[in-house]
Amino acid sequence: MNEFALIDLIKASCSGYRADVRLGIGDDAAVVGIAAGQDLVACVDTLIAGRHFPLNTRPEDIGWKSLAVNLSDLAAMGAKPAFALLALSLPEADADWVRGFMHGFSELAKQFGVALIGGDTTRGPLSITVTAMGFVPSGKAIRRQGAQPGERLIVCGALGAAAAGLHFLASEPECGRSKKLDLSQQLHRWVQKLDRPLPQVDIGLRLRGVASACIDLSDGLLSDVAHLLRASDCAAEIDLPAIPGYCGLAEALGTELAQACVLSGGDDYVLVASIPELHWEQLRLDLKHYCGLETATIGRITSGSGITVYDGRGQIISTARTGWDHFG
Ligand code: ADP
Ligand code: MG
Repeated sequence: MNEFALIDLIKASCSGYRADVRLGIGDDAAVVGIAAGQDLVACVDTLIAGRHFPLNTRPEDIGWKSLAVNLSDLAAMGAKPAFALLALSLPEADADWVRGFMHGFSELAKQFGVALIGGDTTRGPLSITVTAMGFVPSGKAIRRQGAQPGERLIVCGALGAAAAGLHFLASEPECGRSKKLDLSQQLHRWVQKLDRPLPQVDIGLRLRGVASACIDLSDGLLSDVAHLLRASDCAAEIDLPAIPGYCGLAEALGTELAQACVLSGGDDYVLVASIPELHWEQLRLDLKHYCGLETATIGRITSGSGITVYDGRGQIISTARTGWDHFG
């Protein structure tokens, strides 16, 4: 199979329709229409085999995740996803792999009305670069900057499960995904979170006009919240037991590993936002009603810089040791 046959295969397996796509796959570039009063929001992320996903990850899951991580970035901006571009570097023209990949990719694309409008296909070490674009009403994108002291720091889902899954895959690479072995349901759920993160697009849309700052968690809570705080020139206090997912993980894995998973694990793709008290009650009700989400307050924005994490008894937890090293 040559490059052009592969492109045909990709085109055939992701035939999402959008009226604003004037010209999709097949020309030198794609052409899309942009409605008046809308801003285009764009982001790109690369996944490299062995670095961003374990080598034995199923192509279906790689396809899903390569789009999901980008839609999560759009969600953090409060943008509605619209288009994607896909740059694939493949060691060989493996049609079965591409079919599997596109199956996962288009499953998620369909769910969020995303049209694949172009890309690039080359030979090289396996790597996947997806560009995603979406829209917000002009001037309404949510940013990392804008948090103010006194606001609530909220998270929109449980943390740490993907990191727990990765931890077990790293120690027993075959166990997590094998259907033959008797897997605990819990481990299966963790690996599922790692392989198939669900971008919080609808939640991002609800946060627009309400959150004063927002970020999606890809590298871990402490590291990503630190980005938000630096951009906002603020500090934060976080209450460890209030982090959704922590107590369950602590029961299953012990407090030290659970702490590492929820604070620094990464791959959560959950939104964290700073919410003025004035908007909190209505937002909490809206997220529950429209998104089925029990939103958790994990702490407060304060003045100064840095993050202080407290345990259940009000003692400060040293976070110096919680990092990727736990999984290295
Ligand atoms: P050019 O050489 O002019 O860059 P290509 O031959 O690389 O064009 O691509 C031909 C068409 O196929 C273009 O519309 C391009 O966007 C699309 N395309 C190539 N690779 C991919 C891919 N991996 N996914 C989606 N579209 C692709
Ligand atoms: Mg050309």
